[in-house]
Amino acid sequence: MRAVLLDAHKTPLRYAEDHPIPGADGGVILDVTACGVCHSDIHVVDGDFGKAPPIILGHEVTGVHADLGPVMMYAPWGCRSCAECREGNEMICSHSTEAGLFTDGGYAEKIRIPGIEYLTPLDGLDPYDAAPLACGGLTAYRSVLKGLDRLRQRGSEARALVIGAGGLGQYAIRFLRLLSDAHVLALDLSESKRVTAVEIGAHAAAERLDDGDRFDLIIDFIGAESTLRIAADHINKLGTVAVAGLAGGTIPFGLGPVPLEARFVASVWGSRAQLDELLAVARREPSIVQPVEVMALADAELAHQRLRSGDLRGRIVLDIAGAR
Ligand SMILES: [Zn+2]
Ligand SMILES: [Zn+2]
Repeated sequence: MRAVLLDAHKTPLRYAEDHPIPGADGGVILDVTACGVCHSDIHVVDGDFGKAPPIILGHEVTGVHADLGPVMMYAPWGCRSCAECREGNEMICSHSTEAGLFTDGGYAEKIRIPGIEYLTPLDGLDPYDAAPLACGGLTAYRSVLKGLDRLRQRGSEARALVIGAGGLGQYAIRFLRLLSDAHVLALDLSESKRVTAVEIGAHAAAERLDDGDRFDLIIDFIGAESTLRIAADHINKLGTVAVAGLAGGTIPFGLGPVPLEARFVASVWGSRAQLDELLAVARREPSIVQPVEVMALADAELAHQRLRSGDLRGRIVLDIAGAR
């Protein structure tokens, strides 16, 4: 089958025409239609996390299942027996084997999945534009939910800040507008991303904040020390800072360094149930399914280079089935 492989850390991805088809091995084989390119893929290439190569990357997967038809795959596969898994939070299972990060993923024509319980019917959603909902969309959705109750409590007084208006930030802006009456501000150093943020629904976008700006929910899609500092300085009492960015920054926490009753949460991916919920929202409100840029599977390395350089407007999706 056609597949793209990572042979060793920090080396270019390799396209192969004749990679062996995986065996079902007690699971099911999915014919992949499309696979999103996520920033986490870059981290696996760099050796920051994930399984040591060789590995096939890709965890934002849509495909066609023999019985279910067009589906989206839930990629965080947990152990199914620990407390987190029993509560449906497989994405924080200590023994999880996420597709494309710890086991072979969707940069290939076929992928082995542990069982059909990890597949959700697309029911009319476009398999290309919807693909990034599996990680980018779901991660943004969960982070918005972390502070949504407080935003709704505050009604039109509520203010939300999205730090980083790239792919995930753009999803968050749309979810915030759809699910709350909060005033939504996007913070980004890139002028083009600020323009995009306002185009898709942010009330405003800024390069820096004023001293007195306060927010009830701040979502940090960067996670650097500098952005966490901004979050700690501008969160309201009783507000929530949700960190979803992987830059690895830290800040002091305790009674004193952060506003009273503020909550800080490291938000990770989303639960199995939240993926179903998100797809239901997307079917009801098609505007949250953002158009993506489609590239050929053989151009996966080029897609990674563009992601590294920031040379893109939203998400890139690899065309595996050649249906676009
Ligand atoms: Zn588990
Ligand atoms: Zn991802």
